[in-house]
Amino acid sequence: MTVERFEFQTEARQMLDLMIHSVYSNKDIFLRELISNGSDALDKLRVESLTNEKVVMPSEPKIIITADREARIISVQDNGIGMSREEIIENIGTIAKSGTREFMATLAERREQGEAVSAELIGQFGVGFYSAFMVADRMELVTRRAGSDEAWKWESTGDGTYTLEEASKDEPGTVVTLHLKETSEDLDDYTSEWKIKNIVKQYSDFVSYPVTMLVEREKESEVSEEGEEGTEKSTEKVVTEETLNSMKAIWRRRAEEVEEKEHNEFYHNAFYDPADPLKTIHLKAEGTQEYYALLYIPSNAPYDLYMPESVRGVQLYVKRVFIMDDAKELLPTWLRFVRGVVDSEDLPLNISREILQQNRAIRAIRNRLTKKTLETLSEMLKSDREKYLQFWNQFGPVLKEGLFQDYEYQKNILDVTLFDSTKADGKRTLAEYIEQMPEGENDIWYLAGDDPSVVANSPHLEAFREKGQEVLLLSDRIDPVWTSNVPEYEGKKFRSVASGDVDLAGEEEKKEREEERKKKAQEHALLLTHLKEILQEKVKEVRFSGRLTSSPAIVVSDEGEINPQLEKIMRSMGQEMPKQKRVLELNPNHGVVERMGKIFEAKQDDPLLEDYAHLLYGGALIAEGEMPPDPVGYGKLVAKLMAGE
Ligand code: ADP
Repeated sequence: MTVERFEFQTEARQMLDLMIHSVYSNKDIFLRELISNGSDALDKLRVESLTNEKVVMPSEPKIIITADREARIISVQDNGIGMSREEIIENIGTIAKSGTREFMATLAERREQGEAVSAELIGQFGVGFYSAFMVADRMELVTRRAGSDEAWKWESTGDGTYTLEEASKDEPGTVVTLHLKETSEDLDDYTSEWKIKNIVKQYSDFVSYPVTMLVEREKESEVSEEGEEGTEKSTEKVVTEETLNSMKAIWRRRAEEVEEKEHNEFYHNAFYDPADPLKTIHLKAEGTQEYYALLYIPSNAPYDLYMPESVRGVQLYVKRVFIMDDAKELLPTWLRFVRGVVDSEDLPLNISREILQQNRAIRAIRNRLTKKTLETLSEMLKSDREKYLQFWNQFGPVLKEGLFQDYEYQKNILDVTLFDSTKADGKRTLAEYIEQMPEGENDIWYLAGDDPSVVANSPHLEAFREKGQEVLLLSDRIDPVWTSNVPEYEGKKFRSVASGDVDLAGEEEKKEREEERKKKAQEHALLLTHLKEILQEKVKEVRFSGRLTSSPAIVVSDEGEINPQLEKIMRSMGQEMPKQKRVLELNPNHGVVERMGKIFEAKQDDPLLEDYAHLLYGGALIAEGEMPPDPVGYGKLVAKLMAGE
């Protein structure tokens, strides 16, 4: 029999070189690659059997793994289409696929730039058949093309050449045999039943043909020997064939055929969440791209939802083969609580995280899934308010991150955002707020702070309460951030009750009150200036307020200024922020103003005025849930006044 020797094509040689000489983080994927080659071969055979009568589908299509620990051998066998001599040369000796060539180009570029080619990067890539050289120093492939009697044996040590010779094989299909390298690593692990089962479960569970393994099991049998009394137990080794994969890719079934029970079971197993999902989104996309998506909105937020490393995203499959967990690119971070699977028909198996980031097809999938998720939420809000509330309580603040991260979806997110309010018992949507707006009102009033009870009792709300004007109460950590980024909703401006000059009165009344306020301001002009001088380190102005009815004082920001909550958040994130001085507003109708007026009249530099100024400023901060600048001094001042000193 003649043995012919061939050279690998240049790119194939480069690839082999990488496989053999780099250190990989994830060698396990070689098995995934070989199994999916077997599965592809069976798919091809099925297609060809439809038109070519010489080619028939086997009665039991399958992929069989065998391992021999002593001989350090693992093999993967399929009864698929097989390859002719020409096909071997064409498919195995060369790299034709554009994805793989792209990958090689990226790596070559990095090497040229002197960068070390990271193990991570390579590990994330599927690199097909050649990946076997990560673990093997010799490989054999025996194959027989369906519809032909000839069989061929291909063999290589990955050194740039391979050999081909005639062989014999009983049935069509391919057997790939790896001789595991002798290294310090435990590569012979790959012959262990446990290891193989784990890899198949992780990567190839949903391959549509059975992936089986021949395993030896000890069986006890009773033997009676001649001439001896009774029976004796002996153990016998029996080889059985076990199927390792479940093949149940429920996302590939029609949505209406999958029962809730099945969803729940799949969800628990795939995402390690003992609770049932709150909502299921199941879709099949056809057209320019074909893919299946099965998304779940969990019932409960995971403990690490707000930790920076927590982003988990969805799993990416290509043709039922697991590619990666946490494919961040498939959903925006503000939907990071969504779990699920995307299974593409068109992406290459060897797609990397890096390529995902630039891939237009991926961006299109992400847009579609984002829209679909928001639509689902909107439907849920309309049809099942209670369930939606459950969702909102778990994930609302995360969803709101999208308001300043993805302007494209701002409106859709606001549509499904819920708010506490001074009026409604439960939560309100913006549409509901707008519906209840008084005639002529054009602003959506809100108050943001970090503590719900402080916000709800804030003196900022007094005038609004009195007027019966509804104010939305925001107390999620994220609220100060988005409110400073979102100007309006449905043509209505968002306005904070805590900034700018607020006067809620009608036009007539407003004029009147303005007059009154002016008069008072004139009357007390010197007092206000004096108070400002006392507090000049702390505030930039002291003026009379149009928003207070019962509280004596309040601190406000000027319109357009960054609000103090946001300032605090930025600072807690390590951002340097100049401390902005705010405005102290006094209630012109409060007794304390009268009192100060009298003291001031009697003695302009009465030290009591200084105490009053600090007390009013400190009290205004406390009402906001803040600390006065000198808490101890503040306490002493209060006690001093109480003692009547
Ligand atoms: P990919 O599977 O991504 O195309 P591979 O390097 O794994 O890349 O395989 C190259 C080609 O070799 C395949 O496209 C296929 O034509 C052929 N091939 C590999 N394994 C088998 C097999 N078990 N049966 C038939 N053909 C195979």
